[in-house]
Amino acid sequence: MKVGIVGAGMVGSSAGYALALMGIASSVVLVDRDHGLAVAQAEDIAHAVPFMSSTMVEARDYNGLAGASVVILAAGVSQKPGETRLALLERNAAVFRDVVGNVLRVVPNAILLIASNPVDIMTQITVRLSGLPASRVIGSGTILDTARFRSLLGRHLGISPQSVHAYVLGEHGDSEVLAWSNARVGSLSLADVAAQVGSAITANVRAQIDDGVRNAAYKIIKGKGATYYGIGAGLARIIKAIAQDQQDVLTVSVVNAEIQGVSDVALSIPRVIGADGVMTDLFPDLDVGERDALHRSASLLKETVEAVTI
Ligand code: ADP
Repeated sequence: MKVGIVGAGMVGSSAGYALALMGIASSVVLVDRDHGLAVAQAEDIAHAVPFMSSTMVEARDYNGLAGASVVILAAGVSQKPGETRLALLERNAAVFRDVVGNVLRVVPNAILLIASNPVDIMTQITVRLSGLPASRVIGSGTILDTARFRSLLGRHLGISPQSVHAYVLGEHGDSEVLAWSNARVGSLSLADVAAQVGSAITANVRAQIDDGVRNAAYKIIKGKGATYYGIGAGLARIIKAIAQDQQDVLTVSVVNAEIQGVSDVALSIPRVIGADGVMTDLFPDLDVGERDALHRSASLLKETVEAVTI
């Protein structure tokens, strides 16, 4: 499968690197407004390929996307000193107006995978700009937050994260909701497993895991200025599900007609991902507190998206 990546900065190039190492794509094409950057990133990634796979990696202009089944949108501008989040969002919306038009001109039937932040809002903007069905415009959403939740729970219990089924819902950001009430390990509830392995999930443990999930990005940004390896691998994971028609359950952001009483809003819930993008939504069984929190998260996103001019 051929994969396009528009935006060859840290996130886009990390996704390209992950894809190339995993050997998921036959070809990866990087496009950036700064063509010199795209060329340099493509060469650097291409030098890693002979050790791991046979993916072809190159930098092209938009016409080079022809034949791509999936295009990652990772282009964006960074916040200027003193700039409000909404002003930044307006500038990123303008970038997407340019990018989405150029991509669709060449590959009108591609699945679009949105990585630029705020990812839920950018996903909804992309649906508006593209006119594509919501199931083919997928935001990376809480895929990483969910991975972190599973990994921290697994570490506490001494069980592989792959056997921990727990999801982070809603906004990829401050209002996200850790769905504790329906978390399972194997087929058992958390409380059952915690009792059997002798690792109680106390209020303190819960608070630490919540903090570890919710504030992971802030901590990484404080230490190194940006986050990109994790999301790069997460994007490659979504593409693997599409390329191999895996029907995997992943938390990704898609515009839903209605979520928890809020209409027409993009956020993350578990969804089945296969060759056509999102095949089915799997709305989780939540307790009252989690339902309220998801309603708040959806309402916040809706307010923001309505404030953006498209
Ligand atoms: P991140 O850490 O989110 O990847 P970067 O600033 O490293 O952020 O990367 C964003 C990339 O998006 C930059 O390489 C920039 O040149 C690119 N970009 C910005 N605007 C456009 C545009 N209109 N078309 C194509 N690429 C763009």
